[in-house]
Amino acid sequence: MQEMIETIRRRLLAWFRRTQRDLPWRQTYDPYHVWISEIMLQQTQMERGVAYFHRWISRFPDLAAVAAASEQEILKCWEGLGYYARARNLHRAARLLRDRYGGQIPCDYRTLQSLPGVGPYTAAAIASIACGQDVPVVDANVARILARLYDLEEPVKSAGCRQRIEALAAALLPPGKARAFNQALMDLGGLVCTPKNPDCHHCPLAEACLARLRGTVADRPVPARRRETVLIEMATAILSNEGRVFIQQRLADDIWGSLWEFPGGRLEDGETPEEAVIREYREETGFEVEICGRITTVTHFYTRYKVVLHCFACRLVGSDTVARLEAARDCRWVSAGQLSEYGFPAGHRKLLEYLAVARPEFLVDPCR
Ligand code: SF4
Repeated sequence: MQEMIETIRRRLLAWFRRTQRDLPWRQTYDPYHVWISEIMLQQTQMERGVAYFHRWISRFPDLAAVAAASEQEILKCWEGLGYYARARNLHRAARLLRDRYGGQIPCDYRTLQSLPGVGPYTAAAIASIACGQDVPVVDANVARILARLYDLEEPVKSAGCRQRIEALAAALLPPGKARAFNQALMDLGGLVCTPKNPDCHHCPLAEACLARLRGTVADRPVPARRRETVLIEMATAILSNEGRVFIQQRLADDIWGSLWEFPGGRLEDGETPEEAVIREYREETGFEVEICGRITTVTHFYTRYKVVLHCFACRLVGSDTVARLEAARDCRWVSAGQLSEYGFPAGHRKLLEYLAVARPEFLVDPCR
C-alpha cells in the first residue's frame, strides 16, 4: 500500500513538473490571487475563469480594493459569471479581513473557513496552494480521479464515499509538497482524467489505476441518482416612459440579490405571459401597464432548472410614480446608455444582448 502511494506521488509530481498549466495565479501564489481564482473557478470553466480573473485583478488589484468597492461595482465586475452569492460573499469577506485581520488573508485552515463563502474546499486550496500547508483538497476533479484510481463502487456523492475519498486524499498527500501535489491532481482531472473519455493512454497513474485494470473506467465515479430538470416559465417587460426605462434592484437575500432587473416574475396557473407581466408590475410597483409588443424569449439553465423568460415591451397607462416596491430595494428610470452600468441576472442580460444585436432601436423607444 505504502509503495503504491509513493509511486502515485512520484509519478504525479513528475507529470506536473513537465506539464503544469501556465495560469496567472501560479506566477506568485499570492493568497489574494489564489483566493479569487478558487472562488471564480467554482462552477466556471477554466478558460472563462482565467478571462474573468484578469478582468477582476485589473479592476481590483488587491484585497483593499475589493473592501473599498461598493457592492454594485463588485456585482458589475462579476456580471456573467453567475452564482452571484460568490461575489457578495467575497465582498463581505474582504471587508471582514480589512476590519479584523489587518487586511491580510490568514493561512489557517479553520480561520479561512470562518470567512463568508469559504467552505472546506476553498479553505484547503488557499491553505495548501498559497501557504504550502499539508491540507488535502477534494473537489469534483479529485473525487473523480480517486473514485477511478481505487475503483470505488459507491455513489460518489454519498456520505460514505465522500469520507473514503477524503481519507484517500489525506493518505496520498506527500508531506511538504501539498502545493504541487494538490494542483497536480486538479490539473490531471481537468486535462487527462476528464469526466468523459479520460485519456488513460497518457495518464501518469495508469499503471496504478484499478478502474483501468478492471475495465470499469466508464462506470466510475458512480453518479448520484439524476434529478429531473424543472421548467420555470417567467415573464418580464421593458417599461419605457419619456425616453427612459424602468429598472429595479432585487432584494439582497436571494440568488440574484442586489442585481438589477426589469420587473416580472413567474407565471401563475392558467396565466398568459402578458397577463403575468401586467399583474407583476401592478403587484411589485403599483404601475398600471399595457403590453405594446413581444420582444423575444430567452432560455437559461440554472442547476436543475430550465428558465424560459418571455420578454415584452410595455407602456404606462397610469401614473409614473412608484406606489410601492414589493420585490426590490431600489429602483430608477435610466436611459438606454446607462443600462451597461448595472449588473443584471443571466436572463435579463441575455435579453439586453439580444436587443443590442438584433433590435438596437428598441431600447431607445421599446413601444415605437
Ligand atoms: S488511468 Fe484513466 S481512469 Fe485511471 S486515473 Fe488515469 S485517466 Fe483516470
